[in-house]
Amino acid sequence: MNVESYEYSYWFDIISSGHRLEFNEAREILNDMKLHEIMHLANQLTGTQVGDTVTYAVSYNINYSNYCAASCPICAFYVPAKIRGKSSKGYELTIDDVKAELAKAKEINPTEIHIVGGFNPYLPLEYYESVFKTVKENLPGVTLKALTIPEIDFIARTTGNSIKEVIDRFHASGMDAHTGGGAEIFDQEVRKQIATPEKISGEDWLKDAKLIHSMGIKGNSTMTYGHVENWDNIIDHLIRLRENEKEVPGFLSFIPLKFSIENTPLQKMGKVKFASSGEKDLKVVAMARIIMGQDIKNISVYWVSVGKGIAQMALNGGGSDLVGTAASEKIFGATDRREHTTIEELNNMVESIGKIPARRDTFYNIIGKFDN
Ligand code: SF4
Repeated sequence: MNVESYEYSYWFDIISSGHRLEFNEAREILNDMKLHEIMHLANQLTGTQVGDTVTYAVSYNINYSNYCAASCPICAFYVPAKIRGKSSKGYELTIDDVKAELAKAKEINPTEIHIVGGFNPYLPLEYYESVFKTVKENLPGVTLKALTIPEIDFIARTTGNSIKEVIDRFHASGMDAHTGGGAEIFDQEVRKQIATPEKISGEDWLKDAKLIHSMGIKGNSTMTYGHVENWDNIIDHLIRLRENEKEVPGFLSFIPLKFSIENTPLQKMGKVKFASSGEKDLKVVAMARIIMGQDIKNISVYWVSVGKGIAQMALNGGGSDLVGTAASEKIFGATDRREHTTIEELNNMVESIGKIPARRDTFYNIIGKFDN
């Protein structure tokens, strides 16, 4: 079968000429083209935008606390903040705990420490500053990618500071980048069903991202899909991210996060019974490349969330990055997704589809290729 259909050539030429897809055009691609055609179009665009290299970071995750003032129906990680001290499952890492985590991190020689947690209303600004300084003292040279945008907003609100003041202080303490999490789905009607009001709206997420980027702190962008959203919500989310990037650049990558249903309130309420299909997972990555690739060229495939098999296929359909080793990850772990990998396995996943694996830093600079 000739995969290069009329639709393929038409859209490849239009996007290659610099045109940014509008909502109805993206919808047309989804409606008119088959999965293999969409993936082929995305893969060809990947070739022109980033080439054949697939990157990943050697990263170690630290989740400082699971107490949370929000109670998002998509989340299996949180313990309600109001029962702090009364739950055997709730925790807050002390600075000694953080040092112990860093000692474990040293074993994999990470270039990046990734830190996120719940909305813990009991932790003062100084707690985060101490954690960040401890990271930099114990692992000098490592890049510290910390906090989701809603976490930063929550910390600013509960400590009586502006976002600018919080970012200034955190940057001075060692924060180099934000994680880009908490974007979920921007559409407010969907957002209301998957997150509680403590989490900022999609509008505010985008506004905060522009402010943080304008201060020189870059970060990733994300979207959580596979719950109660539809394709229109996904297209809308991708276009809004792209337009934000055009206004104030600062997104290092886009990472779609497949909703992991196990142990979540959405599953317990019976609102979501099954995980998204492999077909949808592949189409999300491909559409991200097709809609956003000119402006956010690093489209990541998070193997922890989609599984290694689908991740590998997505690298031939728009994906150009595997995120990282994600050692010690606990957020997906709370939904029973206890995936593990090694650098050797990531290299093999890439090489066996004919692409070139490369280690990168947080800012997507390549620091080691494996092409011999
Ligand atoms: S998703 Fe984040 S904000 Fe929502 S309950 Fe979980 S930890 Fe809290």
